[in-house]
Amino acid sequence: MTDAPGRALAVGAHPDDIEFGCGATLARWAAAGTEVHLLVLTDGSKGTWDADADLEALARQRRVEQRDAAAALGASSVEFLDLVDGELTAGLAERAAVCKAIRRLRPDTLLGHDPWKRYRIHPDHRRAGELVLDGVVAARDPHFFPERGAPHRPARVLLFEAEVVDHVEDAGPGLDAKLAALLCHRSQWRSTMRITPGGADEEAERTAFSARVRREAASAGAGWGLAAAEAFKRLDP
Ligand SMILES: [Zn+2]
Repeated sequence: MTDAPGRALAVGAHPDDIEFGCGATLARWAAAGTEVHLLVLTDGSKGTWDADADLEALARQRRVEQRDAAAALGASSVEFLDLVDGELTAGLAERAAVCKAIRRLRPDTLLGHDPWKRYRIHPDHRRAGELVLDGVVAARDPHFFPERGAPHRPARVLLFEAEVVDHVEDAGPGLDAKLAALLCHRSQWRSTMRITPGGADEEAERTAFSARVRREAASAGAGWGLAAAEAFKRLDP
């Protein structure tokens, strides 16, 4: 566990990834005075099982949901790169955009997906992890993208969905905020939370989802002396 950093930047592939990966940690830090910023890489336009959905409307809705979720965590800002959901690439243009965000926001701690998580099938999560690490290398070196701001080297990188866990953060104090933030993503209730909005079982399904998140936090804390935790791979670049 670390002391709350002065500034933190969390980078996620889609709206809701940051909340799932490190929402409780960010909420605890924000409550302790950390300036928390979120960067969401894609527009979330494939985040539905409805084949007839209006995808532009969905992307707009997901922005609103992400802003609400950021507020629930106590974050200071949320920025969207609006790249196409499902088609994220880790090319130079995307790396430059992440580098620019790191140099502008100058986080002490940077959080993102672990690109080395084995057998994860969603390509955006792998690419997002690469972009965080490629972005941090570029951001610290003055010869990368010199037009994108002054170099900045975060003191620490925490990778969520970690293949090898070697670090945890206490999720106890921030768990309610994490759940509240996750539930802001109403368009994802069916597909990722198994909740049917307005359905007869909505209340029971919400309870089951909360129990699942609490169970995962308890399991992450087991062995680390914490009742609830979020698990990470830690890098000190
Ligand atoms: Zn995702």
